[in-house]
Amino acid sequence: MLITLFIITDLLLILFSLKYAWWYPKVSFNKTRIMMYHMISNQPKKGKKSGLKVTPEMFEKQLRYFKDNGWKFIKMSELKDHENDTKVVAITFDDGYLDNYTQAFPLLKKYDACATLYLVIDRHQNDWSIKKNPKHNTGVLAEEEKLSDDNIKEMLYSGVFELGGHTITHPYLPNTPLDDKKHEMIECKNILETTFNTKVSSFAYPFGIYSDEDVKIVETSSFESAVTTNEGVANADTPFELKRIKASGKDNFYAFKLRVQKGFRGFI
Ligand SMILES: [Zn+2]
Repeated sequence: MLITLFIITDLLLILFSLKYAWWYPKVSFNKTRIMMYHMISNQPKKGKKSGLKVTPEMFEKQLRYFKDNGWKFIKMSELKDHENDTKVVAITFDDGYLDNYTQAFPLLKKYDACATLYLVIDRHQNDWSIKKNPKHNTGVLAEEEKLSDDNIKEMLYSGVFELGGHTITHPYLPNTPLDDKKHEMIECKNILETTFNTKVSSFAYPFGIYSDEDVKIVETSSFESAVTTNEGVANADTPFELKRIKASGKDNFYAFKLRVQKGFRGFI
């Protein structure tokens, strides 16, 4: 009986250790953390939890954690200026969901924080998930409300947000011919800068999927940095393949803290 209890306790401890990797070494706080968010929204009442939706309560808790522990919030264009500073965090949002305005914006203001929004230009009624996998044709993404240009102008003029490029239509780059790729990646910068009368210096690869050829396109255009969805702490030596820390809607607060400290999501 006692032995069974020991075995169960050990198994639980092993599972916990694999999931949260609490034993994994911390990454120096001299390295900037780039956080990746998509939506700040409550989870659907039915069905599976979405990793893309961090609840407003959890987002506020995370902002408070950064603020109370002496982290400095920066935008992606300020990355180089803070290369050697301690506890620097860049909050980023991908795609351009309406809740970035209704939910995230007031909370960022409340905590004196700022963020970079990687905006898809053709974002309305565009279910880009099918471009990566035709089986994803659920229509769920197209139904999610997106930001209007007026929302974005208000976010930019407040000084809280800056824009980053995330292509025009969110294509799946491995299937996209070179000329179209160049157009999607370089022209999105020009369109954003003209539409919103702003400077765009950072890029995010759609779906986080990219090749050496794509890195070269971004590098030889006038972008200064590019972010991926590869999990980890950003390495300043590879400014066009910056890793990010995923803020997942499936994570509890403990998992979030571990990810920030270690840049690592655990093994399971
Ligand atoms: Zn995206």
